[in-house]
Amino acid sequence: MIFSPLEILLCLAPFMLIVFTIGVGLYAQNVALARKEFERDTRKCPNCQKLLNPEAYICRFCRKELHEYIPARG
Ligand SMILES: [Zn+2]
Repeated sequence: MIFSPLEILLCLAPFMLIVFTIGVGLYAQNVALARKEFERDTRKCPNCQKLLNPEAYICRFCRKELHEYIPARG
């Protein structure tokens, strides 16, 4: 018995769907992890809300001094 390409496709569709779902899940997880790492290594200027180096003393965008601002880390 010879299967037509459409029948083969229909048989494989559920497996492809599972693989696709897992792939998307892993991708979303990676993106979330990367964003978390990025946010941990940066902080926002309280004045202009731009992302800065956590060691920054003066905001490089609005030139506001940040020494009184203690970032929430950990
Ligand atoms: Zn700023």
